[in-house]
Parts: sequence; structure tokens; C-alpha cells
Amino acid sequence: MAERKVRVRFAPSPTGALHIGGVRTALYNYLFARQHGGDLIFRIEDTDSNRFVPGAEEYILESFKWLGIHFDEGVSFGGECGPYRQSERREIYKKYVQVLLENGKAYMRNSLTMPKEEVDALIAEGKQYVVRFKIEPNEDVRVNDLIRGEVIINSSILDDKVLYKSADELPTYHLANIVDDHLMEVSHVIRGEEWLPSAPLHVLLYRA
Ligand code: GLU
Repeated sequence: MAERKVRVRFAPSPTGALHIGGVRTALYNYLFARQHGGDLIFRIEDTDSNRFVPGAEEYILESFKWLGIHFDEGVSFGGECGPYRQSERREIYKKYVQVLLENGKAYMRNSLTMPKEEVDALIAEGKQYVVRFKIEPNEDVRVNDLIRGEVIINSSILDDKVLYKSADELPTYHLANIVDDHLMEVSHVIRGEEWLPSAPLHVLLYRA
């Protein structure tokens, strides 16, 4: 099989100015992409409508221009895997939420114990709901972290994360980032260490 092309992404949320930690993460992605003749993608993760700050996206783009970090595709750069702004990918996420629900990998509030007719009636009534990921307990989830090595976390310490909110018809970060990294053919995820505890959840989501 041909070796997979290196494709990495920097995916800020437009919640304010670009900070130095973000620049550091972007720089690692940029150097890794250039070193391997790969692609660097710029994705805007704006699924948390409450934290949206007008002008933040422009500020971030302007900062990278000033820094001389160039992206190969993404918001304002174009590319084959767009749109690259998550708020414009609603329909894509809805499709995946449906797949997870149908395969019993996710559930709506109480839908685990309520009869299906009752669930359907509540939705038809327009009641708001969230969809949660259903995590099976007591499984050792292994993450291949290039810096830390094999990281093992038992699924019993993970909670059933919210994946989707009907209120704004948007997924949460966890679902959107998995769907996008998959569809945008991202080969390596390079991000701040604060995301390491979420990595086992992401492994389970990829599988589901
Ligand atoms: N939107 C996330 C952030 O701004 C990106 C995390 C990731 O790279 O997956 O921190």
C-alpha cells in the first residue's frame, strides 16, 4: 500500500485572540507538514456559539500572515475537503449522529430507558435534547502518543460525553473534530497536551 500523505491541521476556536500556546501548536504542525512534504490545514472550530467572538477568526489569520506561517488549505485558503468552518458543516455532523444512534453507540436523554414511541413523540413536540456517546465500561483504551508512548486509560473513568445539541443544531467539539479529521484525511493530530485526557474518548469515537 502506498504510504499515507502527511496531513495535519491547526484548528482554533474563534473565542478570542490567538495566544502564544496556539502559535506554538501551529508552528509544530507547520514544521511537521513541511518536513514531510505534507499539507497544513486551517480549520475553524466554532461549534460553541456561546463563546464566539466576532473578529477572532480575522485576527488569527492576520497573525499567521505576520508570522509567515502559510496554510495549504482551509478557511480563506480553499481546498477539496471544505467547508472548513464547522458551523457550515452541520448537515455532515447530523448524518454521523444518526449513524451512531442507529448503531446503538449513542443515545438521547432517557432514550435508554424510554420506549421509542415516547422518544419520537418528544422530538416531534419540539422538546430540546442532547445526544450522548455511550461508553461501555471497563475497557483499557490504548492511545499511541508519539511523545508519551502508549497511554492506557480505562473506559470506566470516562463519562458519556455530549456529542450533539438540538438547541443550536451543532455537534460538540468532540464529535466535530473526529468527523472532520476523518473526512479531511488528517494523518497526525498535533495539539496541546491538555487534550491528552480526551484522546481515549476520541479513539472510541473513531471506532464507533
Ligand atoms: N479547537 C480546539 C482548540 O482550540 C482544537 C483542539 C484540537 O486540536 O483538536 O483548542
